[in-house]
Formats: sequence, structure tokens, C-alpha cells
Amino acid sequence: LTGPGGAFEIEVAEVMGHHIRTYKNALPSVRELWLMTRQFADRPYLVYGNERISYAQAHEAVDAVAAWLAAQGVVAGDRVAVAMRNYPEWMLIYWACVSSGIAVVGMNAWWMTEEMAYALADSAPKILFLDAERLARVNDRPAMAEGIMLVTVRVDSAVVPAGAAQVTPWSEVVARGGSMPDVMVDPDADACIFYTSGTTGNPKGAQLTHRGCISNLFSMMYAGASSALATQRATGVEPPAAPAIPVTLIATPLFHVTANNCGAYVTTAAGGTLVLTYRWDAGEALRLIAREKVTSMSGVPVMARELISHPEFETTDTSSLVSLGGGGAQVPPDLVLKIERQVATARPGTGYGMTETCGIITSIGGDFFVDRPDSCGPAMPCLEAKCVDDDGDTVPLGQVGELWVKGSAVIKGYINRPEATAASITDGWLHTGDIARMDGDGFIYIVDRKKDMVLRGGENVYCAEVEATVYRLEGIAECCVFGVPDERLGEEVGVAVVLKPGVSLSEAELTAHCAGLMAKYKVPRYVWFMDEALPRNASGKFLKRELRDRLSPEVAAA
Ligand code: AMP
Repeated sequence: LTGPGGAFEIEVAEVMGHHIRTYKNALPSVRELWLMTRQFADRPYLVYGNERISYAQAHEAVDAVAAWLAAQGVVAGDRVAVAMRNYPEWMLIYWACVSSGIAVVGMNAWWMTEEMAYALADSAPKILFLDAERLARVNDRPAMAEGIMLVTVRVDSAVVPAGAAQVTPWSEVVARGGSMPDVMVDPDADACIFYTSGTTGNPKGAQLTHRGCISNLFSMMYAGASSALATQRATGVEPPAAPAIPVTLIATPLFHVTANNCGAYVTTAAGGTLVLTYRWDAGEALRLIAREKVTSMSGVPVMARELISHPEFETTDTSSLVSLGGGGAQVPPDLVLKIERQVATARPGTGYGMTETCGIITSIGGDFFVDRPDSCGPAMPCLEAKCVDDDGDTVPLGQVGELWVKGSAVIKGYINRPEATAASITDGWLHTGDIARMDGDGFIYIVDRKKDMVLRGGENVYCAEVEATVYRLEGIAECCVFGVPDERLGEEVGVAVVLKPGVSLSEAELTAHCAGLMAKYKVPRYVWFMDEALPRNASGKFLKRELRDRLSPEVAAA
């Protein structure tokens, strides 16, 4: 296969019965990836509204940011946090940091004050780049930014309240120019830290290494090539050539692997264009697809559905699209077939992946997907996969078990959480928390989830976190959070609550309490106040499935 930096091969070595898979001749670190893109000079790189930034302009800005960071004494091994919407600056800061060996902490822009304070204390960045909304959160609780230098992006200076922490505007950071520091970046150093709850408990900072991010980039390229080859093998017809220069609509937040490690990396490596938007809007997405000749969209399946059901879909020129589907959640089989039928040029495709694998674990597209719309594809070459039982023993082929994966894309661990790292990774095998089966051709089918999580339209909501927040209210005797099936989003957040005797609490009070402490997507949509104790199993665990099956039909019937 050919990728940035020339040809590469996939090397499979057998060491003591294990296959160790690595990409041979791949780029050593993300720095080399970014430096290689200098060759794309005048091509458009970032599009945001009417703003257009070429590769040459992006390099000039990235060099200036990197030089500024070095001048502040921020060096390889340090951390820099980014808390903002999908502005072009997000990508510029990202490449400046990773090319200097500085790890980027991608802060979730939907986080409320409490969640931001937690992640800042946990990751201890030296600098925090933030936009106006995030600056307002810091000003709610200035102590969270103590000792951190703030850089404001797209903030009118008049808006910075008096008494706020010392801030430097973005314009000052880039004004002086400069060149990229000459550093050697360790392939096993952290490229970025993304927060996720993994299979258990509270949000943890996953350490995505340079090696892991580069592995995922090559997986993304392999995925494209393998789908094209599969199509050709199945039909005998030469598939439409993958667009030489991709134009990707980034419809999900850049602080997540779907947009960053999958969408942005593979597009940047090919000298393509990233079309950024402030928020998801299907009508706006259609206009951008037509105007920018978008070839693919980095989104979640619910977005693909909204796009093809939009009233303007039929009258919009979407002929530039090569693939459609999205990742991060199951593409429902009916949607796979609808895309195949309704979208003239684009083939259905998807990826299954995790923050903990720096991006994709499997990928599927074209005829393979149409033939197996309930599969998410085979594991990528850099990952070995197996389904195991509760003792960690491999189950016979075709049987269902927890999916474990191993290889160069797996994260190093979680910062400050050695015990959580040890619980999630056994001898290099990452426990995905997903229940799957594999067929004789290596195709994986995700059938259930072992982890206590609600998947709401591609956003993961961890039940334990929501439950802990509800328990902070006075008068809660028992509380249990679970997923309620939802036609549009796949699942919505539901909570069953038992109040202590004599306590009165309304649904509005409960949701207002949650909304003050957590990002909106985590706030329960359905609340049930129960008169009797919640059902539990012998070891005292709530029987979530039973509650879900008993209560969800009430929503469907309403
Ligand atoms: P995150 O770390 O936020 O990317 O979330 C990873 C989790 O999202 C996985 O462990 C799955 O539970 C879920 N997920 C991601 N992609 C898919 C997919 N294609 N099908 C089903 N579940 C998915």
C-alpha cells in the first residue's frame, strides 16, 4: 500500500503464539505527518464559513504557535489544553503541539464548569486555548485555571471580564511568526489526551500515542483501499477511484477520535480539505456538500439519516460524495440499504472504534456492507481481535463474547489511573466493553454492550456518572440510569428514582439539577419516580435490563 512518506507494508510477526502487527515503513510520529504536508502549499486546507486557509497559511500559523509555545517554555512532554468549538484554530493548535512533542488535551466543549474543572485539575496543562463560551465557564470558577496561561480564540477583548486570569489573545500568539522548533518526537509519547469513561466509572484521560495515531491513520487508508478492492473483487467492475484529494465535512467535535484521528488525519495526509462547521445542521451540511464538493462526511449515523431525509436532499447536488454512513454508533441496517438505494454516487460505509484505539477497530464499506449490513467489518491489520468469556478465554468462532483487541493502535493507558489502566488492558489486550461475535471471514458483529453506557446518537453517556450526579440531590434513596430506545438517536437517557420517605422532588427539579452540573446530552430525557425499591440481582446490582424493558414501552406508547 502507498501512504504518506511512500510505500508501506503490514508486518505480521509471530512471537510466542501472538501475532504482533505493525505498519512497516510508516511515519515515526505525527510531527513527520504534519511536516510532510508542506508540499501541498496552495491547496485549500481549512474552510470555515467564508474563511479559507491554505496549507501554506496553515503552516505559517502552526509554526508561529509552535515558536510561541517554545518561547513560553512549553516543551516536549508538557500538555496544552484546547477548549473550543470546531474553529480552524483547533487544528492549527493541534499540529503545533503534536509537532513539538507537546500533548494536546482535547476538552469536551459541551462540558459545564464542574466537568471542565475536573479535567483541568486531572491533566494539568500549562496553557489553555479557549473560546468565549469556555472563558465564561472559567470565569465562573477562576480557581480552575490557577497556574494555567489562557489564550483566547475568537474572543472580543472587551468581553474578557475584569479580574479574570491573565489572558493572551490569539492574535498576539501568531503575530510574531517564527519557525517550528527542531525536536525529536518519541513515537511512544502522548500525542493527545481525550477524555472517555472507557468501560467503567468517571471520565479518564486516555493517552493516544504518536504510534497509535499513526497506526490509525494507516488503518484509515487501508480501510479505503480494502473497500475499493473488495468492491472490485465482488463485482469485477473497477470501483470509482477514491478521490485523489478528499474534501471532508467535519460534522462531529474535534475533541473526539471520529473527527480528529479519523476525519482530519486521513484528509490532511492526502492534502485534502477540512470543511468545519459550528454546529450540526442537515440543511447547512447539504449546502456545504454542494458548494465545496465534499467527498465524505465525518459524522455519526444519525446525521447520515437526517441528510438523506432532508427535504432539500433530492434537489441538492451531492454527486461529489463517495461514501456516507458515519461511525461511533451502529449504522442501522435499514440505513445502509437506504444509502445504497437513494444516494447515487456514495456507497454506505462505517467504522467501529474507540478512543482507546485512537480511532477505528474495524471498517466496512461498499458491497461488503450491503451484503452484511449488520456487521461493522473485520479488524484493521494493526489489531488482533478475539471474543472472550467472563474468564478471558476465547469463545468458539461464531459465539458471542466481549471483544478484546491488541496492537499498535491501543492507548498507553489513562493518565493518573494505573488501576483503571490495569483493569482495561490485560497483556496488551484492550477490553472494549462491547459484546460481539465474529464470523469465519473475520467480520465482526456488535450485538450488545457490557459496559454501563447509553449511546445517544453517537455521544457516550456513562450511567455511573449520571447516577452520581443525581445522588448529589438530597432525598434520593435509589437511582438507576439506563438507555431508552429512541428511533432517531438510537437511545435516550432514562432514570428510575426512588425518593426517601417524605421527600418531594419534581422531574423539572431533577433535570435542572443535572443540567447545572453536566453537559446537556447527559441530562436524563425520561424520569420515572418509583414507589418501590428498584429490582436487584443476588449480588445487589440493579437489574437495568429489566427496568429498561419494563419502563421503555411507556415512552413508545406515549
Ligand atoms: P468512544 O470511545 O467515545 O469512541 O466510544 C466507543 C464506543 O462507542 C465503543 O466501545 C462502542 O460501544 C460504541 N461504538 C463505536 N462505534 C460503533 C459502531 N460502529 N457500532 C456499534 N457501537 C459503536
